[in-house]
Amino acid sequence: MQEIKRRAYGKINLGLDVLRKRPDGYHDVKMIMQMVSVYDELTFRKILDKEIRIVTNKEELPFNEDNLIYKAAKLMMERLNSEEGISVVLKKNIPIAAGMAGGSTDAAATLLGLNELLEGNIPMEELLSMGVKIGADVPYCILQKTALSEGIGEVLTPLPAPPACGLLIGKPDIHVSTKYVYENLQADTLKSHPDIDGMRQAIEEQDLEGITSRMENVLETVTIQKYPVIGEIKEAMLKAGAINAHMSGSGPTVFGVFASRERAEKAKEELAKSGLVKELFVAEFVNL
Ligand code: ATP
Repeated sequence: MQEIKRRAYGKINLGLDVLRKRPDGYHDVKMIMQMVSVYDELTFRKILDKEIRIVTNKEELPFNEDNLIYKAAKLMMERLNSEEGISVVLKKNIPIAAGMAGGSTDAAATLLGLNELLEGNIPMEELLSMGVKIGADVPYCILQKTALSEGIGEVLTPLPAPPACGLLIGKPDIHVSTKYVYENLQADTLKSHPDIDGMRQAIEEQDLEGITSRMENVLETVTIQKYPVIGEIKEAMLKAGAINAHMSGSGPTVFGVFASRERAEKAKEELAKSGLVKELFVAEFVNL
């Protein structure tokens, strides 16, 4: 086998709670993670020179060791004592620095893709622990199904797929640093916490209304304060018929949940006219 292609799906957080700041600076979180049908495409090939080459369609992305794909490929090649090199072609569609785990999911796809290409036969458990060395969201992106995520994000409990619905995902023309958001979060004095246990139960009962009514993200307390446009996008999605709309991760991406894909398509036209968003996708939940 000389070449492998993989899709790397982005994620949204149906619910995101931060429980506390830990002494090591990380935060303990409690989140419901969901993959969505907005994805990057990666092509992996073996090359003779023992190096890692990354080519991408987005100029602003690093193509050296700062790219999470590079970190994942290096980890894999060291683990497998590979004598060959790897070239990776990345077609980036997931918005960058957007709260959709774009870098983490590329790293996860690299671990999975190279395990196959290099015939590593590394078991899932070990892939998950390799993933967390790259980033807290990488194990979830390896799992690729609805999950409760705890610890710093690496303690995963798989859940059933939620009922099908339409999604509209919109990102304004701003970049948000995850580091800035967590540094400015007052985790101990949050006035409200999402009902993640209730959302988990609603997912198990396939109750879409029970899920959407519990959607909440405590990081909005930091990000919307700095970027009010995020609140405006939420409002616009609700006005366009969303059952509910919230920010994903540390933002600035907002997702709206709609009763059907058709309704999300209609709302897309309205959001496009509003001028509030730069990138806009109609999507659905993905569970592999
Ligand atoms: P998260 O939801 O995990 O916080 P994010 O969507 O906020 O992630 P990313 O899109 O992963 O953020 O990008 C954050 C930064 O990581 C970018 O500024 C980018 O320079 C860097 N980066 C490194 N590798 C990648 C990659 N393969 N794809 C996207 N960004 C990458």
